[in-house]
Amino acid sequence: MNAIEKLIKGHVDFRDGFYHENQEYLQELGRIGQSPKIAVISCCDSRVDPAFITTSKPGDLFVIRNVANLVPPYVEKTSSWHGTSAALQFAVCNLKVEHIIVLGHANCGGIRSLFSAEGGTAEGNGFIGAWMRMVDKARKQVLTDPSLTTQEARISACEQRSIQISLDNLRGYPWIKDRISQGQLEIHGWFYTLISGKLLKLDETESRFHELCD
Ligand SMILES: [Zn+2]
Repeated sequence: MNAIEKLIKGHVDFRDGFYHENQEYLQELGRIGQSPKIAVISCCDSRVDPAFITTSKPGDLFVIRNVANLVPPYVEKTSSWHGTSAALQFAVCNLKVEHIIVLGHANCGGIRSLFSAEGGTAEGNGFIGAWMRMVDKARKQVLTDPSLTTQEARISACEQRSIQISLDNLRGYPWIKDRISQGQLEIHGWFYTLISGKLLKLDETESRFHELCD
C-alpha cells in the first residue's frame, strides 16, 4: 500500500468509525458553524498535531500552522500576504476565542535551519530563511549565553525562546491587546517534547518551562 492508498483507507476507516459514531455531533457542527474557544499556533511538523496530542474533537481547536509556529509582528498596513496574521484576526475578532496557545516543539527543523550556514545569513534559504529571521533575536541570545555549551543545547533553547518572542508579538496586535486587557483573552506558551510525549508550559515571569500536568 502506498502513501496515498494508506490515506484513502484511513479516510474510509474515519467514515465507518469516528464519523459514524459522531454523526449527529458532526452534522450539527456543519450546520451551526464552528465556535472553538481555543486557537493554537503550531508548527507544520507532521509529528506535532495539536488536536491529536490533546485528544480534541473537530470544532474544538482553531489551528494555525506554519514553519516553527511563529507569530509575525503586527504591521499597521500590509501590502503582502500574511496568512498567520489573517487567521489570527479571524480567530480573535470573528470567532472570539478565549485562549491562544503558541505550541512549540523539540527537534524543530525550522529553528534548526537558523543555525545552518545558509539559514543564518541575510540572503540564505529562500522563503524559510526570510520567515525564520523573525526570531533571529532568539538565535543571537542563545549564541551569547555561556551556560549553553553545545550546539544542540543552543538549538533547544532557541526553540523555547522563540515562543516568548511570538507571545510578545501577539500582544502587539491591537485587537489582541484589547481583549487581553478586558479579560476576554489569555495567551499561553506551550512546548511539546516529542520523545517523552509531554507538554510544558511557559512561566513568563520566571522565563522557564514547567510540566503542564502530572
Ligand atoms: Zn517545527
